[in-house]
Amino acid sequence: MDFTSLRTFCQDNNVELVAVSKTRSVDEIMELYDQGQRHFGENRVQEWMEKKELLPDDIHWHLIGHLQTNKVKFLIPYVHLIHSIDSLKLLEKVNQISKDKGVITNILLQYKVAREESKFGLNPNEDTAVIEATKSMNNIQVKGLMAMGTFTNDDEINRHEFQNLIQIFDRLKMQHFQGPDFSIKSMGMSGDFELAIENGSNMVRIGSLLFR
Ligand SMILES: *Cc1c(COP(=O)(O)O)cnc(C)c1O
Repeated sequence: MDFTSLRTFCQDNNVELVAVSKTRSVDEIMELYDQGQRHFGENRVQEWMEKKELLPDDIHWHLIGHLQTNKVKFLIPYVHLIHSIDSLKLLEKVNQISKDKGVITNILLQYKVAREESKFGLNPNEDTAVIEATKSMNNIQVKGLMAMGTFTNDDEINRHEFQNLIQIFDRLKMQHFQGPDFSIKSMGMSGDFELAIENGSNMVRIGSLLFR
């Protein structure tokens, strides 16, 4: 699928397309930028900082990968949305740095719904401390949730995982985040975005399919 068809597909489904530009050059990013793409996702802070300097200011940068607390200071206030908040420590750091800089940072809580042991993310049965902490933090805005599906060809496994995230989202929405700000369900990558959208995603993060 080329960029134009993917963008049309996302627009028709009311899904935000984040072009994952990690490992891609400034020229490759500019090719999509010139076609109107503004949301880009990176997973390494160092690489992002170097490229960002050479790219237009109106790009909305998404930080999608696992984030170390000592890197948070470089992101704020330039990051549009941090997808990968997966611990209380990281959440506190983002709030503190945002407070120091006088801004509010948009975040997603990353949940672990995949079976693979190595994947980062909050455990839905042990998220109380993080959820409660968000309520007393004035410099973060919880915009929604993010999850990664298992890397597999078995759609049933991914379907189950995506539905699991939607259930968590609905529970949190009802019990903790009733306002309109809590609205983003970031799930779906090159291999599983159609399935993710069928199962309720409204933000996909797509790399390899776009840059070839
Ligand atoms: C790399 C990456 C993606 C994009 O993966 P593709 O398979 O290249 O589309 C999406 N989300 C995260 C967190 C990633 O690290």
